[in-house]
Amino acid sequence: MAKKMEDTVLNQVNVLGTEFDNYTMAEFLQILSGRLAKQHGTFIVTANPEIVMYAKDHPEYARLVAEADFVTADGIGVVKGAAMLGTPIKERVTGFDLMEKLLGLAAEKNYPVYLIGAKPTVADQAATKVRQKLRNINIVGVHDGYFSLTDENVMANIVAVKPAMVFVAMGFPRQEEFIAQLRRHLPDALLMGVGGSFDVLAGNVKRAPQWVQNAHLEWLYRLAKEPTRLKRMVVLPQFLLAVRAARKKQANAR
Ligand code: UDP
Repeated sequence: MAKKMEDTVLNQVNVLGTEFDNYTMAEFLQILSGRLAKQHGTFIVTANPEIVMYAKDHPEYARLVAEADFVTADGIGVVKGAAMLGTPIKERVTGFDLMEKLLGLAAEKNYPVYLIGAKPTVADQAATKVRQKLRNINIVGVHDGYFSLTDENVMANIVAVKPAMVFVAMGFPRQEEFIAQLRRHLPDALLMGVGGSFDVLAGNVKRAPQWVQNAHLEWLYRLAKEPTRLKRMVVLPQFLLAVRAARKKQANAR
């Protein structure tokens, strides 16, 4: 599949098989706003170490990620891993931050937005909060994330209201699987998986304070707030070990 030929010279960093697009938030926004203006359909994956490890072990999911137009480094682990491999990534671009900026752009340019994902009350609350914050935002539809991916009604309802941006908050791999299907019916829209972001928008889950984010300890903050995440978080040291092994292999190959 042709990847973003019109926008850039390829500027990618490979971390354990996942190709990241190496742009700052400002650069991403500039590229994306150009694509939105031209209605160039765009599929964005915001990949953290969990996604990288999952893709490494699941070729079908890896294929979905490879077919995305952009992959951002959502997680300091990815930025650290890239640096360890000698191919630094400019900065972390989280799904939540990018979504917030894109919502701002949508309000400014009157791009219709669709929110899909999370529990029904959470999705509605997230939409209410966005409307409170961005008075001009045009949210053309809201749907929870608990439905069968084979349910064509959900897809048809989204397509019918012609959104320019669809934010899909269902966690991986489900959100990317859904986007890969939706993309065929909505080739002109920006489609982006945003994980647990609606819970944050709705105010159910608090984002770590800026100083915690700056100290690269957001993962610890999330663990303290949601101890049940521990099982998922063992993937972080596994990721760093895998990066270390890849670095060793690189050094031996030289
Ligand atoms: N979710 C969903 N449908 C499902 C399973 C999960 O909409 O079938 C939602 C869930 O309610 C939560 C989000 O997906 O809002 C996943 O959040 P998580 O914190 O796991 O994602 P992360 O940000 O860590 O990728």
